Amino acid sequence: MTGKVLLLNQDYSAIAVCSIPKAFVLLFLEKAEVIAQDQLNGIRTVRTVYPLPLVIKLQHYVRVPYKGISLTRQNVMRRDRNCCQYCGSTRNLTIDHLVPRSRGGETSWYNLITACSRCNSIKGDRTPEEVSMKPKSKPHKPSLVSFLRANIQEMDHVWLPYLGERVRA
Ligand SMILES: [Zn+2]
Repeated sequence: MTGKVLLLNQDYSAIAVCSIPKAFVLLFLEKAEVIAQDQLNGIRTVRTVYPLPLVIKLQHYVRVPYKGISLTRQNVMRRDRNCCQYCGSTRNLTIDHLVPRSRGGETSWYNLITACSRCNSIKGDRTPEEVSMKPKSKPHKPSLVSFLRANIQEMDHVWLPYLGERVRA
């Protein structure tokens, strides 16, 4: 159990992950309905036990003013599955500018990449071409769904069908 609830739009597309209290508010206000819940765990009140929601769906379609995933160190590392994009190490991670800042490289999803401090210092102030260090993946701006899927270990398996994953039998 993740303690988080997957929030779907009215058309079943995943739009966000919210906290259990927020999910209960949406359910209580009848703005959302339960799609999947955890029967074994629930919130007990004097009168009844409410099963914990795992996936809820909005009653009305909302046009989400989608701002995208914010560009932070942590989110760049998450996108890169917390491993160095040069050697695959998962230790001593830092953020590397593909084109170094000193050479005009910008701070963007397309120029930031996760690197271990060793690769980062080998690369130094040079471009990947200059040092023949080709990153394993091309840095990209993650979509919400790809971002959620990349963090699958934090998620409940009940969410998977809504994130385009086939459910294992
Ligand atoms: Zn490395």
